Amino acid sequence: MNRTPTSVLQRYQADKNRSEALSKQSLEKIDELKLSSNPIHFTLIYEWLSQADPYYSEEMDRIIRQGNYDDKTAENMFIGLITQLLYKTLPTEKACTLLNELLSKLNRWVAENNKKQETLNNEISTLSDFDLPEEASVALNDRILPLLKSLNNDASELERQVIKSSEEIRLLKEELERTSIIAKTDELTNIPNRRGFNEIIHKISLEAQEAQSSFAIILLDLDHFKNVNDTFGHLIGDSVLRYVAKLLHNETKGQDSIARFGGEEFVVLLPGTTYDSAIQVANNIRKKIAARPLQIKANYQTLKLTVSSGVAMYQMGEDLEKLFHRVDQCLYLAKSKGRNVVCGESEL
Ligand code: GH3
Ligand code: MG
Ligand code: MG
Repeated sequence: MNRTPTSVLQRYQADKNRSEALSKQSLEKIDELKLSSNPIHFTLIYEWLSQADPYYSEEMDRIIRQGNYDDKTAENMFIGLITQLLYKTLPTEKACTLLNELLSKLNRWVAENNKKQETLNNEISTLSDFDLPEEASVALNDRILPLLKSLNNDASELERQVIKSSEEIRLLKEELERTSIIAKTDELTNIPNRRGFNEIIHKISLEAQEAQSSFAIILLDLDHFKNVNDTFGHLIGDSVLRYVAKLLHNETKGQDSIARFGGEEFVVLLPGTTYDSAIQVANNIRKKIAARPLQIKANYQTLKLTVSSGVAMYQMGEDLEKLFHRVDQCLYLAKSKGRNVVCGESEL
């Protein structure tokens, strides 16, 4: 299982022979699936066959296997893919930081300007308390005060415009933040997707290194989930995935994080948690899922769901790939032990 995220640049950097072979295979696949050879299908099928993004390939595998790949699905997936690629190249977070700085500078400027103007107005108005010489009084009333009034009006107009622009900047910033959140959230379950997860685990591993502490990772995979889809249909399969995401959310707390790793795999990160406690958390989740058969309203059937998990601890400074590999092996062991099982790295 390749869990390394591929950069946009690296994405299509196969050597000439391989990319020619992939192009040929893509066209053959398009023909086999009786699709029109347009750039949308070509791009999606090429992406799929090249396994450029494991998350995407799993999604395509499933859609094709379920016979759900049609023009409409392709259109949505194409837009999703382009958004994802654009997101990788757009410095969304940097833009948000810059907009934040700009907003606070503008707010400060408005506040300071108001204060200065108020002081100046007060100072000028105190002048009328003095017995000014005729010439100074004429200068004040005929030239200084009208000029000051015009300055005040200009400043008020500028302030109005700054407030309006600030509001537009704020909306733009919110829009950017929303785009960034959407790109990191799984549409089906509304929890972080693989991209969101990558960001979270990098942050948690940096924090662990700084605090000289560790964190636990639980990798969960629903057992025989293909049977769930085959027996109850993929819409029920989708609700089961949403149910599991909700259960994971309820079973974790505070600084813990959950994510959909892809397909029917989920991941839980537990900062500052010991190995034994993590095994316990994984077993609690396992037991809760197994103890609650799901009632399928549509046909009064019962769905017995189970999950297998692997548990591993982050070792100070280690490459995250190594951690993924270990926890993957644990999950594999749990599956081979018969499923509905939790295996920790001490059993490897
Ligand atoms: P195992 O116990 O070995 O994990 O068996 P499994 O059937 O769960 O594993 P397998 O990898 O063979 O199949 C995974 C299934 O998960 C197949 C795929 O269609 C389904 N799946 C993946 N993502 C989704 C999804 O978003 N919705 C639905 N309904 N099914 C999905
Ligand atoms: Mg799986
Ligand atoms: Mg499975």
